[in-house]
Amino acid sequence: MEPGRKVEVFLQRYYQPEIETMDPAQLRQLQSERLVRQVRHVWDNVPYYRKKMEEKGLTPDDIQGLEDLHKLPFLSKDDLREAYPMGLLATPLSECVRIQSTSGTTGRRVVAFYTQHDVDLWEDCCARAIVAAGGSKEDVCQVSYGYGLFTGGAGLNGGSHKVGCLTLPMSSGNTERQLQFMMDLGATILCCTPSYAAYLGESLKEKGYSPADIPLRRGIFGAEPWTEEMRRDIESTLGIKAYDIYGLTETSGPGVAFECQEQKGMHINEDHFIAEIIDPDTGEVLPEGSKGELVFTAITKQAFPLLRYRTKDICVLDRTPCSCGRTHVRMSKPMGRSDDMMIIRGVNVFPSQIESVLLAQGYSANYQIVVDRANNRDSLDVNVELAPEMFSDTVREITQRERSLEGALKSMLGIAAKVHLMPPKSIQRSEGKAVRVIDKRKLVD
Ligand code: ADP
Ligand code: ZN
Repeated sequence: MEPGRKVEVFLQRYYQPEIETMDPAQLRQLQSERLVRQVRHVWDNVPYYRKKMEEKGLTPDDIQGLEDLHKLPFLSKDDLREAYPMGLLATPLSECVRIQSTSGTTGRRVVAFYTQHDVDLWEDCCARAIVAAGGSKEDVCQVSYGYGLFTGGAGLNGGSHKVGCLTLPMSSGNTERQLQFMMDLGATILCCTPSYAAYLGESLKEKGYSPADIPLRRGIFGAEPWTEEMRRDIESTLGIKAYDIYGLTETSGPGVAFECQEQKGMHINEDHFIAEIIDPDTGEVLPEGSKGELVFTAITKQAFPLLRYRTKDICVLDRTPCSCGRTHVRMSKPMGRSDDMMIIRGVNVFPSQIESVLLAQGYSANYQIVVDRANNRDSLDVNVELAPEMFSDTVREITQRERSLEGALKSMLGIAAKVHLMPPKSIQRSEGKAVRVIDKRKLVD
């Protein structure tokens, strides 16, 4: 492929057209049938969940279709911890071919099991995401998510094979080699976390290259929250179009939901997952279009089929038709997990709100949020890197910049934050999921 060519060409519209564009009524019917069957499978094979159903006075006969879903008990990370490692396994271990585990962002590891059928469906989901981003067998797909227990590498690797892309299983790290291989082998698609994509973009620039020097055309980024501002930043440093992909280990991994070229939310693979939005405090199912906690019921998985699993991710579902032709519901970008939400002086603050302000004011996504408490008062400090061209500013100019950022943060968050501008490169770069928040209050509690 010619260097610098960055045209959007879609050789294939869908990976599984009959499913991705299925008539909504038919899709609901399919979900209903699969739900009824899955509840029976779990009841028969998972004593832990059967007990939870019995405690609510339920038997599988009470679940006749989608309309009965709300009767089922929720599962949460606490259940996974209690049932660790195999208490939620629904097939004999001898039927399983794979184990993956969470990256432990929230400090609690989850172990998930897969049969060959489960791996297959998961890879189909990732293949749908790659095709929706414009990928085809003509592409060279560089997978720079971590390989190993983390689901990112394995999932996109499998999806890339299914699409027929030439797959470059780079894993994360060794940034120098990533860029070298990207150029030497003509990678056209990059899959990694958005923070690693930003880092690769920064390294490219430092080496004196421009986006036109690399063959890359599209990126599929996820596994952590990222803002629209960060998307634009990555798109311009790498010269690509960036697509979002979402998933979690508990539901297989990445590929549960993905963006199409319309980029108006991520289509959830509803033939495999039923999505609900609930009030995180009361557990009540919220009407369509409300913001709340996303809950998934896996209706096709065999080994580790979680029913009504509470993700802690806060988002909105959208069922309005999408002009890409896919009929599956779309979820908004999660603003972060309810776990990530900081309560500072009684106000709810998400790191993504801070990121939006910083990027809108021309700073990079290299920042760190430090929350502390002294004399019963919470403090919020934001360390932000200066761009190299700002570094020569005078102390007065830097102080002015700090005050101006503080003003913008105050109007976004409703509370005051102290901004500290730092020299370029002083904040550690991430090759996987970035750690944005240091909450010192948690260390003492
Ligand atoms: P860990 O819990 O250790 O981070 P996972 O890799 O299973 O392990 O992480 C899944 C979580 O990552 C999701 O619940 C969600 O909070 C976050 N996540 C995944 N993809 C996205 C995305 N595209 N946007 C925002 N958050 C995401
Ligand atoms: Zn669409």
